[in-house]
Amino acid sequence: MRVLITGVTGMTGSHLAEYLIDKEGLEIYGTYRWRSRMDNLDSLKESGRLNINAGDKYITPLNGSDSSKLSLLEADITDPFSMKQLIATVKPDRIFHLAAQSYVPASWGAPAETLDTNIIGTVNLLESVRAAEIDPIIHVAGSSEEYGYVLPNELPIKETNPFRPLSPYGVSKVAQEMLAYQYFMSYGLKTIVTRAFNHEGPRRGDVFVTSSFAKQVAEIEKGLRDPVIYVGDISKKRDWSDVRDLVKAYWLAVEHCTPGEVYNIGSGVAREVREMLDIFLNMTDAKIDIEVHPARLRPSDPDTLLCDATKFQEITGWQPQIPFEKTLKDLLDYWRERV
Ligand code: NDP
Repeated sequence: MRVLITGVTGMTGSHLAEYLIDKEGLEIYGTYRWRSRMDNLDSLKESGRLNINAGDKYITPLNGSDSSKLSLLEADITDPFSMKQLIATVKPDRIFHLAAQSYVPASWGAPAETLDTNIIGTVNLLESVRAAEIDPIIHVAGSSEEYGYVLPNELPIKETNPFRPLSPYGVSKVAQEMLAYQYFMSYGLKTIVTRAFNHEGPRRGDVFVTSSFAKQVAEIEKGLRDPVIYVGDISKKRDWSDVRDLVKAYWLAVEHCTPGEVYNIGSGVAREVREMLDIFLNMTDAKIDIEVHPARLRPSDPDTLLCDATKFQEITGWQPQIPFEKTLKDLLDYWRERV
């Protein structure tokens, strides 16, 4: 079975590749761009499980495919030709469509780019599947940010909750999943949409709030910055899972879920950003002050995102395994090794 992961160089894609690489009978392919950060794939590379020919990033996967390795292909989802070639080359049986402009604040600064990447990128993928006349199961990574403004009496959030997205990113993810639905209805493409709530862990980009705090703590410990952490609105509540649990859920989704359907995935626990910060502060001997920084406040931001994952859990049996404290400890240690 051929599995394609778009965005394999990202946090989730790299953990998913590591999880799938040991499964029997899978050939794993993943996309990168010329400018991608490749260090998320270091552990695969170090264990000899990355199919890159001696320093040459441009490989022909089907010449060198090896089911014990992740084979990389260069592709940009915003380019229809690139995507057509990718899909025609790999002819995947399963697709995890993770590539995206994934950072909410960047979507205010560059809304058109966010919409282009996340919406047109998805059109390019789905059209390429049609053109290749293949019938893969396609996982589309939607987001809790699609719900946006949620009323207190709507918590925890079910799949039936209305969309009231509060950022261009949220809008882009709504459109992405509408496309998945429309291609399912119009052409029978086997799309499965998940709306994942926040997931974190090692390799989280340093702009995201958990990773930003962890990196700042690590830098303060090494004397690389003043002992102050700059924060936005830390009263917001989010439902956090560990990315290593999430990638297992994604695999269960393509194994057990129904095409044309949508599934929430999250822990079912909402915590304030302040609580997450306190956990980090308890993990360090450094004495750190907290300051609100206007640049870290968002034009609009959901107050509470709390997941009801009952639908997904009843079908797959998935439950998060990794405690939140371990997720944060591993993220802090990740930064301690790097700063
Ligand atoms: P990352 O930002 O870590 O990874 C995004 C990946 O997409 C990177 O590999 C990036 O490549 C790639 N990418 C971006 N633009 C393009 C493009 N034009 N062409 C090809 N590849 C591109 O995100 P995550 O791993 O956190 O998220 C994975 C998916 O899950 C995303 O769709 C995100 O929106 C969604 N999601 C994430 C949540 C979370 O809490 N993490 C919550 C809900 C949904 P490059 O290295 O070249 O930039």
